[in-house]
Amino acid sequence: MKLTIIGTGYVGLVTGTCFAELGHQVICLDNDLEKVAKLKAGQIPIYEPGLEELLARNTKAGRLQFTDDFKVAVESSEVIFITVGTPDKGNGEADLSAIEAVTQKIGSLINGYKLVVEKSTVPVETGKWIERIIRTNNRNGAHFEVASNPEFLREGSAVEDFMRPDRIVIGVESPRAEKILRELYNPFSVPIIATDIKSAELIKHASNSFLSTKISFINAIANICERVGADVVKVAEAIGLDRRIGKDFLNAGLGFGGSCFPKDLAAFIRLAEKVGYDFKLLKAVEEINREQNRLVTRKIESALWIIEGKTVGILGLAFKPGTDDLRNAPCLGVIEFLLREGAKVKAYDPQAMEKAKKIFPQLSYCADPYEVARESDCLVLVTEWDEFKRLQFSTIKTVMKQPILVDARNLCNPLEMEKLGFNYIGIGRKQSISQDNRMTEWSKPLYNTL
Ligand code: NAD
Repeated sequence: MKLTIIGTGYVGLVTGTCFAELGHQVICLDNDLEKVAKLKAGQIPIYEPGLEELLARNTKAGRLQFTDDFKVAVESSEVIFITVGTPDKGNGEADLSAIEAVTQKIGSLINGYKLVVEKSTVPVETGKWIERIIRTNNRNGAHFEVASNPEFLREGSAVEDFMRPDRIVIGVESPRAEKILRELYNPFSVPIIATDIKSAELIKHASNSFLSTKISFINAIANICERVGADVVKVAEAIGLDRRIGKDFLNAGLGFGGSCFPKDLAAFIRLAEKVGYDFKLLKAVEEINREQNRLVTRKIESALWIIEGKTVGILGLAFKPGTDDLRNAPCLGVIEFLLREGAKVKAYDPQAMEKAKKIFPQLSYCADPYEVARESDCLVLVTEWDEFKRLQFSTIKTVMKQPILVDARNLCNPLEMEKLGFNYIGIGRKQSISQDNRMTEWSKPLYNTL
């Protein structure tokens, strides 16, 4: 099939490349000329495991092309996927201006039957607006249909997720649209949930909201664990082994971030408000998440007492392992706090440092975690990259000014860290009774927030 993907970001580039790998003829369009030029030159603008090889292979085979030319892209394809960004407007609502802009272009250029598929995450009823805008701009009166096909891939494992999904959701209004999308996804032997467009749109928001809820739930449990001396890691393990619950998204830490969960949650709350429902549950999920970030800064403060003039090392910047994405990354709040308080901040991340330099040029970026640790008063482990699981903490301890580790992802074993002589501070972890004063101090302010 001939496909056009409009918006060549994390979702669009993966979608286009994977469809090309499945044998389709794909044009990826973006209005970011620098991005298009890079892609045409075989350079990949994002870090996503496995994508580079796939992109090179399919470009070479002539199945994958890049352009900024809407006319070529729209006219030469039967199916057009919209994968532009839908960021937070600033008030929680989704900013759909990019969707509107590309929809107007599509409408003015359609030259024959087109199935226009919204893959971006959008509030319910966006499909209706897409249909209306195309119709208004469609001066040729060409036949078109709109469908929804929400994307569930995760950055860091996007290629794998696209190629091996749990399910495919398609929102369609006609047998023809359903047939096209079923054919496209035919190579995947997974359930296809075919429904109306509104339900498909809602499935994506409901899905991300549920996953966010799991994270905030376990973070709330972690807060109770800290107060009563229980260990959230064991609690989560036991809860997660119940198949009705499942172990995924039950890792206590400094909360969720990234380009999806925070904005999708906010957009869903706003949508609920608009239709007359006060989604109190999701408001609490948001608040717990915000509080979790502040909790980590309080832990740093309680461990260091005075932050001004101290050196704090940050291990991991990306919002999660496997990506270079810093959009709404939890590290941002922690680093802003440290800089505000006058700390000197050193940092290392396997993939996200180039992007971080644009946001925080004043940080000292290091070649490895050991360089971060050197002369640091405190290390904060922010992103659970695999390479951090293999760190020699005995060496790290010897190069630090003070052996304080705030493990905001519960990656380390508290007892082992304490045996090594660290002042170890996890999230919802049981602390040994041989802690010094600083270790007991940090839990005090938390009681006040109850
Ligand atoms: P992104 O910001 O990485 O990519 C969006 C791309 O669209 C950018 O390259 C941008 O230049 C391009 N664009 C914006 N306006 C345009 C226009 N008018 N014409 C042409 N191109 C335009 O975003 P993303 O992370 O790929 O997310 C895209 C959508 O998919 C969002 O709605 C998001 O919520 C959803 N989604 C994202 C993920 C994820 O993990 N990133 C997963 C599932 C769904």
